[in-house]
Amino acid sequence: MSKPNPFEISQKQLADCAKILNLDAGVHEFLRHPRREFHVSIPVRMDDGSLKIFQGFRVQYNDALGPCKGGIRFHPDETVDTVRALSAWMTWKCSLLGLPLGGGKGGVICNPKEMSMGEQERLCRGYVDMLWENIGPAKDVPAPDVYTTPQMMAWMMDQYSKHVGSNSFGMITGKPLVVGGSLGRGDSTARGGLFTLREAAKEFNIDLAKSTVAIQGYGNAGSFAHSLVKELFGSKVVAVSDSKGGAFNAAGIEADVAARVKAETSTVANIPGAKKISNEEILELDVDILIAAALENVITKDNAGKIKAKVIIELANGPTTPEADAILFQNKVHVIPDFLANAGGVTVSYFEMVQNIARYNWTLDEVYTRLDERMTEAYQAVLAASKNYKVNMRQAAYTVAVARVVEAMKIRGWV
Ligand code: NAD
Repeated sequence: MSKPNPFEISQKQLADCAKILNLDAGVHEFLRHPRREFHVSIPVRMDDGSLKIFQGFRVQYNDALGPCKGGIRFHPDETVDTVRALSAWMTWKCSLLGLPLGGGKGGVICNPKEMSMGEQERLCRGYVDMLWENIGPAKDVPAPDVYTTPQMMAWMMDQYSKHVGSNSFGMITGKPLVVGGSLGRGDSTARGGLFTLREAAKEFNIDLAKSTVAIQGYGNAGSFAHSLVKELFGSKVVAVSDSKGGAFNAAGIEADVAARVKAETSTVANIPGAKKISNEEILELDVDILIAAALENVITKDNAGKIKAKVIIELANGPTTPEADAILFQNKVHVIPDFLANAGGVTVSYFEMVQNIARYNWTLDEVYTRLDERMTEAYQAVLAASKNYKVNMRQAAYTVAVARVVEAMKIRGWV
């Protein structure tokens, strides 16, 4: 079976939203495509003396609300349609969070794991050489994503600064602290998701201190979610998993134990005293909260009916298929959709831009407080739209996000 085309999925989601909002056909058509996209060939001198040409993209989907914002992925299977879809999702995510930003995304077809540091640096600088006139703090601000790192952001910022002739920290986010990064970026995705969980718990009278939690995926998002759900709410994590399998212990699993076992054995599946479970089983456990923090398309029409959790937080992008969404909605499982639940990352990236512009660094407390305000406001807006239109939380999030972009386009006189 061929993989679904992510851009077609994003266009389908938009079409559903256009129906709910009764969008004008021309406005809908405008929103179906990126406003601008750049395809570049980047020559890089490799360490063995050969010249290799890499293909790169930058897609600026919509900038009605402000400069585009979105990561750059370095991946051997990168396609322009993936970048287009991700740039559309960034547009809706920034809008939903009330950020004065549009949506963009970039990608280079390459495998950084097979490249030396020098080759990676030349590729990063080459990418900026090709695009610097079309990106920047007022136009389009990239960030790290799959296989790109804070060090790469620093090289890109340096190269851009050379082109414009002055330090331009605000042209990119996810930088190391010493060159304009923000405190609090590391756990911002998990923390932001948990702020929305707190709001959901209030709405549905769930006592988080007495709740059990299962976490699928134990990378950046999942592992921080583990320690934070205990720290913030006192909830009990009873199951965790990663690509090699999972572990269940009704008595609870501590975050430091899971982290140590993963470091020592390269998987959380070997936690002592816990029962080994599969990645399918973890989704169907009798828990109160399920955190999806691994991959896309894991909750499908085949297992959605077996999910017992009351709330699902999608820290991963696209873990639930549209058919599964319908089943979960019918079964009254409250899904906090990806572009709301995992928006903490881009929100703190935006805070990084603001700090760069002001040349004034915030404390960790300031970052957390402002993140909480944004996430809470966005969650409440989506919940209200879901009640208003009687649609699931994903469709509701689309209505809030798309309506804001359309309003800005109208006021600007674009449509
Ligand atoms: P990561 O690479 O750090 O971690 C991914 C985890 O998923 C790893 O533990 C891996 O072992 C696990 N995994 C892989 N295949 C699996 C499988 N079949 N079953 C169970 N687990 C599996 O990635 P991350 O940054 O934590 O991102 C996870 C998800 O969250 C992705 O969908 C990503 O797009 C999304 N996300 C992350 C951020 C962020 O700031 N890190 C922001 C927004 C969205």
